[in-house]
Amino acid sequence: MKNAVLRGFMLITVICLAIVSILFCVIFANFNLNQTELHLMDTLHVIDYSLEYDGDIDAQTAELDGILDSSARLTVIKRDGRVVADSDASNDIEEDNHLTRPEVEEALETGQGTNIRYSTTMRTELIYAASLSDNGEYILRLSEPYKGRLYFARALIPAISLSCVLIFALSLLLSRRFANSITGPLTAICERLSKIKSYNASLNLPHCKYDEINSITDAINTLSKRIEKTIGDIHYEKKKTAYILDNMQEGLILLDNKGNVMTINKTAMEVIGCKSREYGKNILYYTQNLQITNAIDAAFETGIEQSFDLTDANGRIFSININKVNSSAFENAVDGAIVFMHDVTGDRESENMRQEFFSNASHELKTPITSIQGYAELLTSGIKYSEDQREEFLQRIKTEAGNMTGLINDILTISRLENGKNADSESPVSISLLIRDIFQSVTPMAKEKNVSLFTDCGNICVKADYKKMYQLFNNLIVNAVKYNKPNGSVTVSATGGDVFTLKVSDTGIGIPPESQSRVFERFYRVDKGRSKKTAGTGLGLAIVKHVVNYYKGSIKLESKLDVGTDITVTLPVEIIK
Ligand code: ADP
Repeated sequence: MKNAVLRGFMLITVICLAIVSILFCVIFANFNLNQTELHLMDTLHVIDYSLEYDGDIDAQTAELDGILDSSARLTVIKRDGRVVADSDASNDIEEDNHLTRPEVEEALETGQGTNIRYSTTMRTELIYAASLSDNGEYILRLSEPYKGRLYFARALIPAISLSCVLIFALSLLLSRRFANSITGPLTAICERLSKIKSYNASLNLPHCKYDEINSITDAINTLSKRIEKTIGDIHYEKKKTAYILDNMQEGLILLDNKGNVMTINKTAMEVIGCKSREYGKNILYYTQNLQITNAIDAAFETGIEQSFDLTDANGRIFSININKVNSSAFENAVDGAIVFMHDVTGDRESENMRQEFFSNASHELKTPITSIQGYAELLTSGIKYSEDQREEFLQRIKTEAGNMTGLINDILTISRLENGKNADSESPVSISLLIRDIFQSVTPMAKEKNVSLFTDCGNICVKADYKKMYQLFNNLIVNAVKYNKPNGSVTVSATGGDVFTLKVSDTGIGIPPESQSRVFERFYRVDKGRSKKTAGTGLGLAIVKHVVNYYKGSIKLESKLDVGTDITVTLPVEIIK
């Protein structure tokens, strides 16, 4: 730009110099011509003054020729146009009438006249000046060679050339300065712009003395502030997205059409067992798990969603879904795939538990049903049984049906507790009354075994669901009686300090150490042979555990074989005083 400005200025300077030079030459040539004419006129006036028209004009003219310039020629013309004398002695006096000469015509009209024309006699251009004599009888004419306007102009060429060179040099210097003052701020702006490395700095370009450049500077400053804000917003959004992605429970991997990782979050890295995150690298750089890589290939090839379960190093089960992404929905997007990982550990565990529960429940139900079926077949087989035998079969059917009812009731209780129903049916529950009711129901069994029942609970009242509390107390007390020894005892104590605590102690057969951690599992019974002696479903303590979990309490089991068992339950329920 600077050179263009400079070239422009220099062109203007050259044009100006050329015009000025030509004008100067023309003016000077004209001035010179005027001066020559004036000089000739003055000389004519002097000659007119010195001439004695009564005397020999021809002799006087010859005399004057010696004084005049050698190239000058004096002609004395009579008013009627006849030439009376001519200084140029070499020429004969011209005979033709001179009245038609333009300078003579003009002199007769105005008193003096001039003309420039080519002289065939002299074979050169001549300047003629004619003047009417003082007495009005003669016309004095003086002529001399005239070399033309250009002749004088040529004399000026060295001076004009020198001036032009000086002016050109000066103009070049000043133009350069001027061009610098225009392009300087623009160059400074360009330099500042080219030095910008990051997008987070606003430019704040300084002002200069030109308003037009200042408006550019202002526009750039405003634009840079806007860009800075936009970039800031984009960074914020990016951080937000990264924050969300990294704090998601689900794993997410975004792949481009070549299988290179565009985005991967923390959970996904944990699942595939990768530690460093480097975007743009192929998925094989992150994992060599064939299940994942093959499924990605299959998703790319077929375009069909690929789903499977994957267990990570921490034992968590993730359901993996791989979908090919169609980029047509987004501008500038490429085809790729999304790998989504959803933690299904809980779901799969409960699925397994449910399956286990159903197989256990059906197994437990099968035993009484088979017994009932057997006894019913005996009764209907047509064989004659004694009355006592028939009575015994019916009694067994009744007992097995009772066992089935107990099992089904326990299953229903567990299922209700798991579904979390009846959560809002809390009311004040008197612990002493509750224990008394349960003691009444277990008294026949206790009497059968000669087990004594003791209670130590004062007058405690808690805010809880009666049914749940009944299930809890009943199962613990029934077990304490059921697994007791003849002449044994059961002691139920309850305290209500900061939290409610229930302790059921018995002097029974005890639980072997290896079974103590498992008795709360569903359908778990310590040694089937031993348990067979006493009816049970294996669900009693599981129900207890459910109720304790429901109230976010804790449970402690202390037991010694053949000595007895203490089960302590702590419940953070509200104690009503
Ligand atoms: P069950 O219906 O068989 O009693 P539970 O879940 O109530 O099922 O108990 C699981 C197992 O724990 C029982 O089979 C029994 O062997 C043992 N058990 C429970 N309570 C006691 C106890 N107080 N004394 C000895 N063994 C017990």
